Amino acid sequence: MPDSFSIPRLLMNRLRSVMAAEADTEARLLKVVRLIAGTMVADVCSIYRRTDDDRMELIATEGLREDAINRTFLAIDEGLVGQIAQTAQPVSIQDAPRHPKFSYRPETGEDPYHAFLGVPILKGGLVIGVLTVQNRTERTYQDDEIDSLQTIAMVLAEIVPASGSGAEQTEAAREGRSVNLQGRSLCGGLGMGRVRLHDPVIPAARFFAEDPEIEEHRLENALEELHLSIDRLLAAEIGGLWGEPREVIEAYKLLASDPTWAEKLREGVRGGLSAEASIDRLRREHRARFEKVKDPYLRERLHDLEDLDNRLLRMLAGTENPHANDKPSADDPEILIARRLGPAELLDYGKAGFAAIILEEVATSSHAAIVARGLGIPTVGGIDGLLTHVSRGDRVIVDGEDGRVHLRPDEDLLNAYNNRQAVLSERQALYAALRDEPTESKDGVPVRLMLNAGLGLDTEHLDSTGAQGIGLFRTEFQFLMSERLPSVTDQIELYKHVLSAADGRPVYFRTLDLGGDKLLPNLNDAREENPALGWRSIRFALDRPGLFRRQLRALLRAGEGKPLSAMFPMVTSAHEFRQAKQMLLEEVEWGKSRGYQGPSDLKVGAMLETPAFAFALEDIAGEVDFVSIGTNDMLQFFHAADRMTPLVSDRYPFVSRPVMRFLAQVFETCERVGVPVSICGEGAGRPLEALCLIGLGYRSLSMPGGGIGPVKRMLRSLDIASFGPAFADLLHKRDPALRNGVLDLARVQGIVLNDV
Ligand code: PEP
Ligand code: MG
Repeated sequence: MPDSFSIPRLLMNRLRSVMAAEADTEARLLKVVRLIAGTMVADVCSIYRRTDDDRMELIATEGLREDAINRTFLAIDEGLVGQIAQTAQPVSIQDAPRHPKFSYRPETGEDPYHAFLGVPILKGGLVIGVLTVQNRTERTYQDDEIDSLQTIAMVLAEIVPASGSGAEQTEAAREGRSVNLQGRSLCGGLGMGRVRLHDPVIPAARFFAEDPEIEEHRLENALEELHLSIDRLLAAEIGGLWGEPREVIEAYKLLASDPTWAEKLREGVRGGLSAEASIDRLRREHRARFEKVKDPYLRERLHDLEDLDNRLLRMLAGTENPHANDKPSADDPEILIARRLGPAELLDYGKAGFAAIILEEVATSSHAAIVARGLGIPTVGGIDGLLTHVSRGDRVIVDGEDGRVHLRPDEDLLNAYNNRQAVLSERQALYAALRDEPTESKDGVPVRLMLNAGLGLDTEHLDSTGAQGIGLFRTEFQFLMSERLPSVTDQIELYKHVLSAADGRPVYFRTLDLGGDKLLPNLNDAREENPALGWRSIRFALDRPGLFRRQLRALLRAGEGKPLSAMFPMVTSAHEFRQAKQMLLEEVEWGKSRGYQGPSDLKVGAMLETPAFAFALEDIAGEVDFVSIGTNDMLQFFHAADRMTPLVSDRYPFVSRPVMRFLAQVFETCERVGVPVSICGEGAGRPLEALCLIGLGYRSLSMPGGGIGPVKRMLRSLDIASFGPAFADLLHKRDPALRNGVLDLARVQGIVLNDV
């Protein structure tokens, strides 16, 4: 093999003729290995494919014994071929037989070969095979030789028969077979429609360049256009546009300026690939690495890289996002599929009218999930590799009730979907009938059930659910949704709208809770190691007094002459609460000096979201009018488990002795010091969790709209006088599975926890 080998156009041209001429796969593969071995001056060239039972089968070879074809199988973790299949990374070794991973197969006659180079054959981010070359003499393969082999592997991906666990799904996607996938429910309900990809991937239409010079010119133009478009995005942001977070665009800029990335693309084109195929080759590598990497930061970077590949492909296709402007229509509903969406993007899509949403990555208490619930769109999250199974336009059923997704459903599934739809309608009718019934337990104890809201349109749920008020109004959603910083007038308008929709029912406005995953470009987009523990919520507001005071002013103006309740998020210390309250009181004074009368009754509360604050309650008794426990954040800090990381977010149950003991202690403290306390996390909207909270003594729960019906149904079947003491007994026992104990108790006492 020559010392420096870069993808010879000759090989590409020959490959093109083989692909065009030979119809029979076996014959094609044999010609291809011969061609590669000859051109690369290798003694051996072999192709292995991944089988249905996840083994690597030798399917073509030049140089090894021909009768080993279809007879040599390696386990997926066996030998160097297995290592490539598992890691999706090339392996280059000077003296393979001495390598600890080398697996000797006498039937192949590979004894005399020392140098080994193997690369994965990738399709849809999955390894469907491995391509190897071997040489008799010990030698080191150069980087450009590895690159060349990878390019050839990309072309081979089109002819190697795909199978194996993951690949089978890809095949299924191509053949239109139906696939069922299990994820996690983020918002209940059922939806059916055609797939719309948030970030459509454009497949390369041509592999080979007719004229590499023209092709290189196309690539250079696309690269230049990409740089310009990124600069435009950044400039627009400075002008106040809040599309994609600035940090992401800056990361794109950095990656796009990386000379290695562009050079790799150029090399592909110089070697005879079309510009699209050259990008596609890199994209496959990025995708394959993405599938393997668990580290969230690295995943993020690979995601950015892959995104950049996609952008460039769209550039070549002549459009940035070919489907950006079509809106789904009522008679042809669509389901939105994305790897991941931030709360602001989701809010944007919320207005477009999708029948359901599926996200590859998302934790149930992330803000994107909260937005999904706020929008009331059936949403399923946490389906790894989902994007490799779908194509735009596929029909899909989303079962937001149990977190299932059915791709390309068959007749039976469609019937089941219709039946389920009927059951859900029945259930909705039942909840609607409960709406005007008293919100009290079977033994007549009133429990206040309130709504968590954050969008102007959420207020519609007040009447449809019969909620007794808004226990949490997330004011930052307005900021996340707007394309510019909302003015004081915009804020007053929204708060007035909410108060008027509440029509006398209480509304608890939570002041700006930005930071964590709720970032505003140019305001709080500084990169942090641990955003959940960082510069967020009341910490951010106190450090941005201009912004914070404007909001407080807007709240006071909207609440003129009426009762107004405001609470500060994620208060950690008594001092923080006092500082925030002081600012509010100063704004009251400022208003008075300008002739505004202010609210008729102003209540100032704090959200208990950090365990530390539970131990500061005594200090601020008499200063705080109420406390509301935000269980989403509280649990993440209590368990030290990030609510945004699917691997840990649901790891520790809400219904557990440690959590219940902590909440019992907070309740007792609040009772003792005379501070009214309520709960406002997502957990309060699940009947079992709500039952336990009521068992602990809590009488005010605020939850997503979808939770009110089921919780009210549970409440009306509950005899608190019997359940309370039995639950207290359970808490004192040592049996670890508290949840099972509560379920048993509920069964015995006839408490309705299940859906209809
Ligand atoms: C909470 O943390 O429980 C809460 C209600 O606030 P958010 O979910 O908006 O952080
Ligand atoms: Mg919170």
